[in-house]
Amino acid sequence: MWGFIECFKKPKRCDSANVKEVPNKVVIIGGGVAGLEAAINFSEFCDHIVVFEEHEEIGRPLQCAEGWIHFTGVKPYINGRRVNEVDVIILDRKCNHKTSFSIKINGSVEIINRPKTEKKMAKMAEDRGVRIFTGSKVTLLGLAKQFSDYDLIVDASGYPSQWCREFGGKKPYAPAVQAMCEKDTDKITMFLHPELDGYFWIFPMADSGSKVGVVSFTKPRVPLRKLLDEMMKMTGLYDEGFEPTSYTGGLIGCYRNSPFVRELNGIKVALVGDAAGIADTFAGEGMTKAVIFSRVLARCAREGGFMITRGNTTGMMRGHYFLVSVFAYLRKNFTLLNLFGKSGILGVVNRLSVNREPRIDNMKKK
Ligand SMILES: Cc1cc2nc3c(=O)[nH]c(=O)nc-3n(C[C@H](O)[C@H](O)[C@H](O)COP(=O)(O)OP(=O)(O)OC[C@H]3O[C@@H](n4cnc5c(N)ncnc54)[C@H](O)[C@@H]3O)c2cc1C
Repeated sequence: MWGFIECFKKPKRCDSANVKEVPNKVVIIGGGVAGLEAAINFSEFCDHIVVFEEHEEIGRPLQCAEGWIHFTGVKPYINGRRVNEVDVIILDRKCNHKTSFSIKINGSVEIINRPKTEKKMAKMAEDRGVRIFTGSKVTLLGLAKQFSDYDLIVDASGYPSQWCREFGGKKPYAPAVQAMCEKDTDKITMFLHPELDGYFWIFPMADSGSKVGVVSFTKPRVPLRKLLDEMMKMTGLYDEGFEPTSYTGGLIGCYRNSPFVRELNGIKVALVGDAAGIADTFAGEGMTKAVIFSRVLARCAREGGFMITRGNTTGMMRGHYFLVSVFAYLRKNFTLLNLFGKSGILGVVNRLSVNREPRIDNMKKK
């Protein structure tokens, strides 16, 4: 009965609250990259951290092309396969090859084995005293009741956030589908098609094999799985031996879901990773952003209060978001892409390829 009544309570947003007390008890929804990174970072100063993951196994099911972008300076927890080249192939409406160019990226993208990475992160967290419960699907209302003596709930539940599932406010998303193939490749290939606001890709796997996928940032004209099949046929990938052995897919929330810190029944709730909608709208890349976001949240909670999380995260990402919006515009504008594609993209990517440490140390103090 009490749970039923609680459903009608409108959760408060936490714009004005200025909480400077350092949290000691944190409960995290989601054992993905964002949730585990938050657990590792909060464990440096919190005594009680609990993570709930709805799936039975950390790292599964895999819903990712596993490209770890080094531009941010954030290193993955395990080594992967460095990619040195990206081929961009521009197709015409019938999927014939129109023009193409290669970009040397000199190892700035690494294909990581994501299930292994997440398992390693979970082990690191557990070694630091974090308790992880798999096969446990939780709700915010349930946690706010059961963990009412906790200081913070981290909503790292991916897209759509658990907050949106319970209280609404769902943002647009990009659906993606990918096929696993045994055929190996050592570079990334991106195909751009005038009717697709997204792209069609071939990514290597970390060890051997490849993933062929498609993502759309607007509603595709046919279901994505059908589109993937059509594109594989028309670009001749089936003839080249890219034979799907299984399919996976998922939704990428790439529109910000702020405020990042809210309040529910007196407990702060912080959204991180895809739950906060911080994956980028050019490539749908979200792993390093999830890591940065969780680190920023933990640092803010420890040093300055949760409310500076938003300014610090968006401040840190401003340059990145500017570039991805330029790229996203180029992705849709085929005339510009043909004119400036090679030299423009090459120049920017080469500049970005210089590894930089994220400026977490330069965060504004309240
Ligand atoms: C097909 C595809 C390809 C992609 N390729 C790339 C790529 O190459 N590189 C890249 O950087 N990004 C890529 N992304 C995006 C990337 O996967 C996400 O940005 C990243 O996973 C975000 O991490 P997260 O921890 O925020 O969310 P998630 O990885 O979605 O993790 C959320 C976790 O929370 C759990 N959960 C959800 N609700 C509950 C609940 N109520 N109770 C308990 N547990 C719950 C889920 O089971 C899940 O494990 C891709 C996405 C897709 C769909």
